[in-house]
Amino acid sequence: MSVSINVKDVVKKYGDVTIIPDLSTTIKNGEFFTLLGPSGCGKTTLLRMIAGFNSIEGGTIAFDDKVINDTPAQNRNIGMVFQSYAIFPHLTVRQNVEYGLKIRKVPKAEMKQRVDEILKIVKIEEYQDRLPERLSGGQQQRVALARAIVIHPQVLLMDEPLSNLDAKLRIEMRSAIRDVQKQIGITTVYVTHDQEEALAISDRIAVMKDGIIRQIGSPQDIYARPYDAFVSTFIGHSNLFHGTLKRADGGYNVVFNNGFSIFMDNISSEAKDGEEVVISVRPEEFSISETGIDCKILNRVFLGKYTNYFLEFAPGMVLDDQPSIEYSQDLGQADRIFDEGESIKLLPNKKKINIFTKD
Ligand code: ADP
Ligand code: MG
Repeated sequence: MSVSINVKDVVKKYGDVTIIPDLSTTIKNGEFFTLLGPSGCGKTTLLRMIAGFNSIEGGTIAFDDKVINDTPAQNRNIGMVFQSYAIFPHLTVRQNVEYGLKIRKVPKAEMKQRVDEILKIVKIEEYQDRLPERLSGGQQQRVALARAIVIHPQVLLMDEPLSNLDAKLRIEMRSAIRDVQKQIGITTVYVTHDQEEALAISDRIAVMKDGIIRQIGSPQDIYARPYDAFVSTFIGHSNLFHGTLKRADGGYNVVFNNGFSIFMDNISSEAKDGEEVVISVRPEEFSISETGIDCKILNRVFLGKYTNYFLEFAPGMVLDDQPSIEYSQDLGQADRIFDEGESIKLLPNKKKINIFTKD
């Protein structure tokens, strides 16, 4: 019932403007797949192409191996959930969920059984006779989700469905959506600009910029091994340093611009001696060490379990748009909290450093 989605060499243009130059990806059957990227990068455009609301200017989109470029939206059997709940205000919860089955002329007895089942899955049984105005935002979004999946769609498409909810509810609803998706096992494409949400909810994430997928992988992969400087700073925080590679026995010395050097034996084979690189270190991947890099604390932000410090570095050492670097101290492992103005020595965890070529 659920299908894989095969996007091949897809092009999207509005007039003379190319929004998506050439995009290919395969979304596996039953997978929770997220399109993540900054506002305007083309996430909604791609989702609407899969749904059939946008024309396709090149390439193909297939459900399993059936190309659907010319299949009208209403024949693609898709469930959709949007940022605005798009539920009918004058119908009760139950009537809202029934609606799609009624227009598909599903027999009464089957309709009742399917609606009962879905109301239970999305946990809104007890509100079934209420009008939407008497529901919270989270409950309304559950109704929208129920309405999308009760028709047994081949794929479920969601475009920033949690953006209208407050922070606490958003976190609660992440788990609710993921639980429902896993329970019914439906192929899902989920759009968000919120990297934390994407990490929390997805099987795989496609990180997009300017209509191009920069990296696809599991949340853990993308966080630990970002493919380039954009991904490393868009997903979580990263400090980016200027540096140079110097070939050494069995690997390379990664030399920061202030002369500080670390030996690494796992740098890709295409690396060249003397190559200028960008060195990426996450704020939590430093430790305090006598052999570390000297830096002065400009600013301290106490966050409970973590304390974040913003530190001054040698001029020319960090990338130009970063006035300071960030170090995140885990209080569970710290002897004490440092003060603003103090100097500390930070050693990057060499197993967690990422090296990018300059572009
Ligand atoms: P996202 O969902 O990632 O924020 P969109 O897919 O909505 O981005 O938009 C991608 C780009 O396409 C933006 O530059 C936007 O201005 C442009 N765009 C979207 N819809 C249209 C349209 N109907 N006509 C012209 N340009 C559009
Ligand atoms: Mg959008």
